[in-house]
Amino acid sequence: MKDTFTHQGMRKRLVEVLQKKGITNTDVLNAINKIPRHLFMDSGFIDHAYVDKAFPIAADQTISQPYTVARQTELLNVKRGSKILEIGTGSGYQTAVLLEIGALVYSIERQNELFKKTKLFLPKLGYRPKRLIFGDGYIGLESEAPFDGIIVTAGAPYVPKPLLAQLKIGGKLVIPVGDSVQIMTVFTRTSKVGFDKEEFGEFRFVPLLEDKN
Ligand code: SAH
Repeated sequence: MKDTFTHQGMRKRLVEVLQKKGITNTDVLNAINKIPRHLFMDSGFIDHAYVDKAFPIAADQTISQPYTVARQTELLNVKRGSKILEIGTGSGYQTAVLLEIGALVYSIERQNELFKKTKLFLPKLGYRPKRLIFGDGYIGLESEAPFDGIIVTAGAPYVPKPLLAQLKIGGKLVIPVGDSVQIMTVFTRTSKVGFDKEEFGEFRFVPLLEDKN
């Protein structure tokens, strides 16, 4: 579990790449500059950790591309103290970005293998989510709702209604919607029944699957 000057230098260059691609939120850029992404991947893959690419992790899943993590976090409009629900804990990298910004994070993962691995791993780096849940993100987390923000890190074939229902008024759901390609979509809750919808281009994610495994 080493983080060397070489890794730090590579991260600085990654941050520059993200800035060139249009990421401007300094909280997000600072978080990416700080978090040792190579430790969220299996040790053989250190050379890949600081290029702007998704990468395989356990259980046929991927750690999202840094640009995607940065863009989704920026769209979520996270502030210190924001109560955030993440669907798709995976490696825990996105979770760490949210925690680094000072959010209170609840995160759901449907793959038991990944859930167990990440639950042990995050505290080793000092990252303490409010709760990690082994479950199905399609139903959200009613017991802790409402949330300031909900971020879905897998491609959703449709927008799950419970996620919209679990937003505070003014809260945002950031969700990639589609089958083989997804459109990054942001819903902002404007009233008990009203939502604004905005779209932010094409992305590719592993699928959001029903039930847990
Ligand atoms: N945020 C992660 C991205 C992992 S890829 C990271 O930064 O590493 C998407 C993750 O969503 C996978 O781990 C997958 O198992 C999980 N997932 C897919 N469908 C889900 C569902 N219905 N509920 C919870 N997690 C789900």
